Amino acid sequence: MLGMAGSARSIPEAFDRDHASSPCHDGMGVFIAGHAEGEPPAMLILLSHDAPETVASDVASRLRMFGLSVHRTDHDHRVRIAAVGEIAGIDWDEVRRWPGVDSATPIGVPFKLVSRAFHPHDTVITVGRVSIGSDQLALMAGPCAVEGEAQAFTIAAAVAQAGATVMRGGAFKPRTSPYSFQGLGEQGLRLLRRAADAHGLAVVTEVMDSQQVEMTARFADILQVGARNMQNYSLLREVGHSGKPVLLKRGLASTIEEWLMSAEHVLAHGNAQVILCERGIRTFETYTRNTLDLNAIPVVKELSHLPVIVDPSHGTGIRDKVAPMARAAIAAGADGLLIEVHNDPDHALSDGPQSLYPAQYAELVGQIRTIAHAIGRRV
Ligand code: PEP
Ligand code: MN
Repeated sequence: MLGMAGSARSIPEAFDRDHASSPCHDGMGVFIAGHAEGEPPAMLILLSHDAPETVASDVASRLRMFGLSVHRTDHDHRVRIAAVGEIAGIDWDEVRRWPGVDSATPIGVPFKLVSRAFHPHDTVITVGRVSIGSDQLALMAGPCAVEGEAQAFTIAAAVAQAGATVMRGGAFKPRTSPYSFQGLGEQGLRLLRRAADAHGLAVVTEVMDSQQVEMTARFADILQVGARNMQNYSLLREVGHSGKPVLLKRGLASTIEEWLMSAEHVLAHGNAQVILCERGIRTFETYTRNTLDLNAIPVVKELSHLPVIVDPSHGTGIRDKVAPMARAAIAAGADGLLIEVHNDPDHALSDGPQSLYPAQYAELVGQIRTIAHAIGRRV
């Protein structure tokens, strides 16, 4: 796939198919307005090695004058610029003759800023004590839902003691049934923040609606976009503007490409701190709640520079299947785990059957430490 950046206009088949099937809701509206179908709406401009900063900013501003949005990354002592927008009418041969410009080639994959073609090296997102996407694994754990003070503090203590660095817990819960517990809302966010702070943990929590983003961002370190909302484009725009890292779950029935296109929305709105989370997809299999697609880890790792973590709790839906799949995920190259832990799962208000007991979580972290060591990573 990396090679595709250079292979000019070869567009993956999926690109055309996406256009044809749902032209106004295909997740690419940001980029494709005004483009001939099949025209890649982004160019990659490589500057020469060690081109001075003045040259780089000059190239960037000239591209902006064409009305393009300009995204920049530095790799291997070279500035790389992705220019996104109406590229069709531009004389790219002229651009190639600008001082400091080495090459200008179309980015031949539908996701541009998310691609390794634009950004070859891994993105690392530092949150609290963990650098997500580095050799350090990100261990995120906590209840499905924040239920009350005692529950939140008990679980925070347990997961911190086991080695987690980020506490999870939903205050806004997307439930299949409107009669199920919907979360404690703002009060839940406050409890989660206090419980996490008491144990030196960062906070990841779900934001279900674009109108909740501002308030949730006051309490959370990472904003979770849930599987059901993966293609909620107004929410993706809002978290794109939030300035907070975003944990983007894969949709229940979404392809890897659709997932990456959703991440592209967040990056296109100016937020490059996206963590992808594989949480299982819906298949014909009914024994498990979802089918955890571990193939997605190496596939996404090749296509994208973004960190990928795995949620084996929703991926399996069954407590005693969580640990084996968590171990497999780390062995397969995941950058971390998001796991549901509850001190009293039999009475949990949501997802009790897939929640680990604190002791099980602690045992699992020990095993993860061993696997991490074997593959040159650490907890
Ligand atoms: C959750 O993390 O509790 C959750 C609702 O996850 P998902 O969006 O993956 O179903
Ligand atoms: Mn849950």
